[in-house]
Amino acid sequence: AKQRGRNGYQVFSSEDDGKSVSAQPIEHALYSAFQNDRLSIHYQPQISTLDGHVTGVEALVRWEDADGGWIPPDRFIHLAESTGFIVTLGDWLMRRACEDIEALRRRRHRDFSVAVNISQRQFWHADFVDSVKRALLRTGLPPQSLMLELPESLLVTELPAVSAKLEELHACGVKLAVDDFGTTNASPAYACRYPLDMIKIDRSFLATGERGHQVTVTSMVAVARELGVEVLAEGVETPEQLEFISARGCHRVQGFLYSPAVAAPVLEVAINQIEKV
Ligand code: C2E
Ligand code: CA
Ligand code: CA
Ligand code: CA
Repeated sequence: AKQRGRNGYQVFSSEDDGKSVSAQPIEHALYSAFQNDRLSIHYQPQISTLDGHVTGVEALVRWEDADGGWIPPDRFIHLAESTGFIVTLGDWLMRRACEDIEALRRRRHRDFSVAVNISQRQFWHADFVDSVKRALLRTGLPPQSLMLELPESLLVTELPAVSAKLEELHACGVKLAVDDFGTTNASPAYACRYPLDMIKIDRSFLATGERGHQVTVTSMVAVARELGVEVLAEGVETPEQLEFISARGCHRVQGFLYSPAVAAPVLEVAINQIEKV
């Protein structure tokens, strides 16, 4: 059975196979959720295993449904991309993330970076670079504390326009990361064409005991070193996975072993727990 939200628009139900429902009502539900403050950001700590400190966080969008549950981004980011709403949403997310983390930096008197996921549609929007600059100006977050996570699929296309935009962003001091590095199976050679600061190893490569993954992770760390960029492993869930990636020279991690993404008000509690303050 189809469920209907308070506003009368159709919302997701487990029976929906994605075809029985047109995108239109869900699009409205998403927009209405945005209007009604039901979209928020959860933050997942990123840790340096060398000293156990939290160096930054990744901003991950959440949609709170009528029952107080959370609809994961995988269920609506594609939709927001296809309708173009991601431009408005992305702009808001960027601004909010900068605001939250600048407030945290001020409270704790220390540096934290915030990584924001950028979708292709958002990246290509004519106003994108200016919207990043505006978010920094209005919140006071230093540019070097903002990391943009770019999909590998965007970077492997090798368009001069990609290069031009990345150079422009880099010039204002913002950091650039490749998200889910290695998942498109492209040769990593594309990475040397851009002013990158970090590559993020996808959690699919962390299944320990798989010989292929050992080789892959070792080579990714080597690529990072060759490029002179940082490397972070995401989706670290177990001490075995931590040992696996540490042994291969990766000392920045993110994953359930330390903390899931948490709401802004409890982020400091999560950080204290990780740092055992
Ligand atoms: P991603 O950028 O690769 O984000 C990492 C995902 O892995 C997050 O899922 C995070 O909660 C999850 N994760 C973190 N640690 C672990 C772990 O140890 N184990 C497991 N199993 N999972 C872990 P989430 O928040 O559901 O986000 C899914 C995807 O949605 C993201 O993948 C990203 O592609 C997209 N997304 C999320 N927030 C945004 C956003 O604000 N803007 C855009 N454009 N995309 C977003
Ligand atoms: Ca990401
Ligand atoms: Ca990722
Ligand atoms: Ca991923």
